Amino acid sequence: MTEPRKKTVSSPYIHRLQRRHFLLFDVAPILGTIAAFAFLAVRPFGVVEFALLAGMWLVTGLGITVGYHRLFTHRTFKAGPGVVVALAVLGSMAGQGPVLSWVALHRRHHEYSDRAGDPHSPNLSGPGWRGALRGLAHSHFLWMRRHEYPNVVHYAPDLIRDRLLVRVSRLYYWWVGLGLLVPTVLGGLLTLSWTGAVAGLLWGGFARIFLLEHIVWAINSFLHRVGTRPYDSRENSRNGGIFALVTLGESWHNNHHAFPESPSFGLDWYRPDPGYWLIVALRRCGLAWDLKNPSADRVAAKRLS
Ligand SMILES: [Zn+2]
Ligand SMILES: [Zn+2]
Repeated sequence: MTEPRKKTVSSPYIHRLQRRHFLLFDVAPILGTIAAFAFLAVRPFGVVEFALLAGMWLVTGLGITVGYHRLFTHRTFKAGPGVVVALAVLGSMAGQGPVLSWVALHRRHHEYSDRAGDPHSPNLSGPGWRGALRGLAHSHFLWMRRHEYPNVVHYAPDLIRDRLLVRVSRLYYWWVGLGLLVPTVLGGLLTLSWTGAVAGLLWGGFARIFLLEHIVWAINSFLHRVGTRPYDSRENSRNGGIFALVTLGESWHNNHHAFPESPSFGLDWYRPDPGYWLIVALRRCGLAWDLKNPSADRVAAKRLS
């Protein structure tokens, strides 16, 4: 008799990889950001530093929200191979894990949201303010040190069949490296100096990874505890409307849990959602299609009065 397929896998080897990833991509960007501030003594923060920080943040952030999240995890629209590869590569540059792992973890988050099995719930760490603080630290950051690894065969069979995406996912470490190389080279070329190259690496590379990570993690931590709850959903997800622009639309998190199939997280035109604006722009260019926006009736039916 064959055993049923396991939903998670756990081994010393996997936990070693998780620990290495945590140190390289979660701890090192903190040190890199401190170094960026220290480097201000050598080179002040100017237009080039700002452009590299903001530009790299925007393209890799769109890679995460439009690519990793809305396209690959939830299949909220369809796109051709060029857009698929571009979004997967840009998302990989964010240093938040290979696309297959990210998708499997996030699908498990939706399956078990705020219940045992959720990889990062802030609501399962005990009562009182101590439990709340422990939960926030766990869900924001600390869970990544060591966690159950969701079985990608179970959680992402559709992605495993996509050979192009599997190949992009396998080259993950190279893409993160490319995400550090691009701002370094641009910083050097734009200023014609070595200090410009170092500033490009520090601001467009490490500080940008740090900034985007904490924005994405704040969705997992704070927006499962505080904020508004306009729609009925079984977990404790919340909206944080004032953060809509800086999170590229991700902060409509209660909307998203209520309608995970929707490419739009804002749901209405008056709620800013830059990730959705990109999807609409891609559709206008014929590069995205089959947007699965929920009907007005379905949205109204889930609305809490
Ligand atoms: Zn989601
Ligand atoms: Zn969530």
